Amino acid sequence: MYYEARVNTIADMSDNTIEEQIEALKNMGIGKGHIIGNTLWINDANPSGCGGYEAAVLLIKDGQYYSLESITVPWCNDNELIGFVRSFQNVSAMKETYGLSFDNPVKVNDVDTQVYFDCGCCGSGFRSTIKVQAKFDQDSGYGICPSCVKRSR
Ligand SMILES: [Zn+2]
Repeated sequence: MYYEARVNTIADMSDNTIEEQIEALKNMGIGKGHIIGNTLWINDANPSGCGGYEAAVLLIKDGQYYSLESITVPWCNDNELIGFVRSFQNVSAMKETYGLSFDNPVKVNDVDTQVYFDCGCCGSGFRSTIKVQAKFDQDSGYGICPSCVKRSR
């Protein structure tokens, strides 16, 4: 699952060799993303989690992003990763395989749009914008919900 409430640092790896792309995916840190052709791979790991990280793969189409797949990268060998990277470039095949619809784009690094956050204080989910939550200096994907803000005053 891709967390819209995070801001990710994105590098375009499209012109790198497939070997370099695979190395980059295996070494991608939290909050980092790599564009490979028409896909954006983002390290979506929970900062408090341990072990293998899960990459959210988003399909890029007409400047919009759509959730495609989640891949636990350390569980894959290089050949499997190469297979994913290559097969994801075939959009019409992906559309069929995943039953993709292009109705609900996800927000990537959009600081002004309402997205879901987890409250770092009480744990409840709420909607806000990255811009509003930035001042609370929480880990990516977390914020402080309105009722906790009120309580702390
Ligand atoms: Zn709260």
